[in-house]
Amino acid sequence: TAKRGNSGFALYDPSLESTTQQNLSLMAELKHAIEHNELQLYYQPKVDLRSNTISEVEALIRWIHPKRGVIPPDQFIPFAESTGFIATITEWVIERALEQRAAWQTIGLPLSISINISARDLLNAKLPAKFAQLMQTHNASPDWLSLEITESAIMTDPKGAMHVLNQLRQSGLHMSIDDFGTGYSSLAYLKKLPVNELKIDKSFITDMENDPDDATIVRSTIDLGHNMGLRVIAEGVENQATWDALMAMGCDSIQGYFVSRPLAPEKLMLWIQNSNW
Ligand code: C2E
Ligand code: CA
Ligand code: CA
Ligand code: CA
Repeated sequence: TAKRGNSGFALYDPSLESTTQQNLSLMAELKHAIEHNELQLYYQPKVDLRSNTISEVEALIRWIHPKRGVIPPDQFIPFAESTGFIATITEWVIERALEQRAAWQTIGLPLSISINISARDLLNAKLPAKFAQLMQTHNASPDWLSLEITESAIMTDPKGAMHVLNQLRQSGLHMSIDDFGTGYSSLAYLKKLPVNELKIDKSFITDMENDPDDATIVRSTIDLGHNMGLRVIAEGVENQATWDALMAMGCDSIQGYFVSRPLAPEKLMLWIQNSNW
């Protein structure tokens, strides 16, 4: 109900109320989605440039909405992060990825799956124990999964993040710093983080063929990573020229539409069978 102030204007903001209502219904819809299997993991291959093989895929979540079709993560993950529902989603992602990996194991396709962990997850001190429990339940070895953690997530609370990351690392999980170059991590932290890999953000990759600044940033990041004993992967590779340039710079792996878009598991199988991988 509207309250009226002295000015005679309604104190409540109708647009604000509808936003709250929208949020409540989005929350209800998301809960419904997870309970009714409307969420799905798509998988995008990563190519190891030295061996020219695919041994890893990244899990990317999609909401297959019965009315609205495929909803990309940008339209619900930030909301889930702001409400804390991301913890439920992340647990769901870990379980689905472990099930998928177990299924691939039985058909002789030992692809390692990288999953995206949000800033909010990193602030959850129970995450390492949750991981350990789920891995045990699924009889998984640590090389089944790896984690992608954005640079900005780590910089939200570097000390807290470091604590959680150290525990995850101790359970044998490999970790990558996602969107590297966009989050201003200090080199002092980078040196201390228990990570194995840097993933150069696609904003530097997309145009590196035409933009000498981007090419310089990419080359320097590859050298920096290698000098610190880390693997370096580039995301957002969309053409042969970018692949060649990254190969010449000594980049370890690449990922991008030029290789494949993220695919549903059955499409990924077909793609692997029909291409020369
Ligand atoms: P991200 O982790 O940086 O993932 C890379 C995004 O780039 C993906 O978008 C991928 O489909 C897209 N991409 C891949 N190759 C190319 C390319 O060659 N060109 C271009 N332009 N784009 C490419 P997507 O799947 O829409 O995911 C967007 C973001 O949503 C992800 O960014 C990640 O931050 C988040 N996300 C996705 N799945 C999950 C999840 O399971 N959990 C969490 N917490 N976040 C997720
Ligand atoms: Ca990622
Ligand atoms: Ca990225
Ligand atoms: Ca530039």
